[in-house]
Amino acid sequence: MDLGLKNKVIIVTGGYSGIGEAIVREAAKEGAIPIIIGRSEERGTALEEELKRQGFDCLSVVAELSDASQCSNAIQQVLAKYGRINALVNNAGFNDGVGLESGSPERFLSSIQNNIFHYYTMAHYALPALKKEEDSSIINISSKTGVTGQGGTSAYVASKAGQLGLTREWAVELLPYKIRVNAIAPAEVMTPLYEKWLQTFDNPQEKLHEINKRIPLGKRMTTSEEIAYMTLFLISNKSMHTTGQIIYVDGGYTHLDRAIT
Ligand code: NAP
Repeated sequence: MDLGLKNKVIIVTGGYSGIGEAIVREAAKEGAIPIIIGRSEERGTALEEELKRQGFDCLSVVAELSDASQCSNAIQQVLAKYGRINALVNNAGFNDGVGLESGSPERFLSSIQNNIFHYYTMAHYALPALKKEEDSSIINISSKTGVTGQGGTSAYVASKAGQLGLTREWAVELLPYKIRVNAIAPAEVMTPLYEKWLQTFDNPQEKLHEINKRIPLGKRMTTSEEIAYMTLFLISNKSMHTTGQIIYVDGGYTHLDRAIT
């Protein structure tokens, strides 16, 4: 199946690590032009140069996404170079463990700024460009924690649940422009973020074994590439009648009967 993504400009926030990096790499393989947005110039440039050596077009743009003006700047840089945006993948985030007991109102607010504020801000600034393209779309990478909770991480979970709400809200608001908006809810994907979270347990290996046992399909974690494939399918016009949906790419972890595990 040809996804028809050749030369499509696809912005990926948090694009040089974990799930975002996989989306960037797979988008490049499809002939799209991935835009790697992140706060480390060194890491963004390293990925951009690697992909260019392989013959792919792409661009790294530096932005601390909790700052609205840097979001706006990033969008302007993309438009200055390519003149268009076909898709926005809101992906950057950090499960920072700001809990009800362990956190504070100040840390809650700052985590919200780091986890959901830029989903809105990037969409807001990208919208005029998205409106000009046919079949453009927004993908919000959320998390199953937005529907299940996790415990000890109020701001992250509020953000993830909020992203699901925004997916439905924007799907409705953007119907007149035929801009599709969908969310992907991963559960357990081995990435630098996940590795960091695992290290908060006394015995990370034992914790990982326990988690794997509970994943119905294959008793294994989802790969970043599996999230990337779904992302690209949802961006492509092969899913042109799909909007406002939450897709759980999680090996059945969130919904299948607990009795089987
Ligand atoms: P990751 O490897 O840590 O990648 C996240 C990226 O986001 C990093 O490059 C990070 O930059 C960037 N980022 C975070 N806050 C930023 C900010 N304020 N400004 C600019 N960049 C920022 O994590 P991941 O596991 O791939 O997570 C990607 C998304 O998937 C997140 O939204 C996460 O909530 C979601 N998710 C992941 C899992 C999982 O199991 N891994 C499960 C459910 C949902 P730095 O590296 O410079 O910090």
